[in-house]
Amino acid sequence: MADGTALAQTPAPAFAFTDEVEALTAPVWAKVRDKVTPIEWRFQAPLIAEINRLKREKDAVILAHNYMTPEIFHGVGDYVGDSLGLAREAQKADAKVIVQAGVHFMAETSKILCPDQTVLIPDLKAGCSLASSITGADVRLIKQRYPGLPVVTYVNTTAEVKAETDVCCTSANAVQVVEHVAREWGVDRVILIPDEFLARNVARQTSVGIVAWKGRCEVHERFTAADILEMKAAWPDAEVLAHPECPAEVLEVSDFAGSTAAMADYVAKRKPARVMLITECSMADNVACEAPETEFLRPCNLCPHMKRITLQNIYESLRDGRFEVSVDPAVAERARAAVQRMIDLPPPDRPARYDLVRARHHVDVELI
Ligand code: SF4
Repeated sequence: MADGTALAQTPAPAFAFTDEVEALTAPVWAKVRDKVTPIEWRFQAPLIAEINRLKREKDAVILAHNYMTPEIFHGVGDYVGDSLGLAREAQKADAKVIVQAGVHFMAETSKILCPDQTVLIPDLKAGCSLASSITGADVRLIKQRYPGLPVVTYVNTTAEVKAETDVCCTSANAVQVVEHVAREWGVDRVILIPDEFLARNVARQTSVGIVAWKGRCEVHERFTAADILEMKAAWPDAEVLAHPECPAEVLEVSDFAGSTAAMADYVAKRKPARVMLITECSMADNVACEAPETEFLRPCNLCPHMKRITLQNIYESLRDGRFEVSVDPAVAERARAAVQRMIDLPPPDRPARYDLVRARHHVDVELI
């Protein structure tokens, strides 16, 4: 079989669950034992030990997104976090090889920021519904239609879209970036693409007008206010934290809305007795591993693209140096400027949250 899927499914050698492996991986087991069964662990622990050995041998680091499963996130991730955090870490990483435990646009971002390093993704089919919703040609047409307006692009986009962009943003800094760019350009409207719901939720936090695109995250668009109200009726004491890629009606019935980093920060600092994270399932699992005093209800959705990344294909990726991600140098140079302008902004004082009270009072969005 010739395609990448067949390669990605090549079985790993059966590493043994020895006393040495058990001792080496004991700190990881202590974190993930409520999320992984003992039988699964006998297969996962030897792979974790082998991946960590291979990282030293190959001078490699693994960047693991918050939506990775707990055995990846806690077991082999050298840097963990949201897109913004990983972008910053990619730039600082001085290893020869970067393995992106995340989706393809994230690996492209790492390659853009680290052009001299080898960037690998364990499965080339790990895509994203937002990234595939828009092309560079679409952005050029938008710029023709709205001359003089700055283009702010969510990092969940391909390199060719970033190359057409003035400044990138993430859900953790989108309001800050929109306001900064509007001030810098002396305009009262900004193009914010491609996530329609993020754009609508940002618009409720600022007096800057927003021109938006109809891209959606297939994980977050599936949540509804009715789902949340039903869960709240069943567990009235549960605190509901929602991601801003969800529809505005979901944020309106939630107790808090913010980026993945803001949600993790909320749980760590406020230690709620019971919580619901309205986002991708593994995010709740990873936060739960470090918050034993909090009960997590699970009205979550899985991202099928993130779930293509497994311990086995990370192992194979490191072992065989596959699949290498490349970006055309001319595209990379322009895309790097847009990502760098975001990174150069002062870090927010605290992880971004979306102010749900103001949210009910101001909306100014033009959807393309
Ligand atoms: S969770 Fe949504 S935005 Fe993130 S990779 Fe999956 S489809 Fe894309």
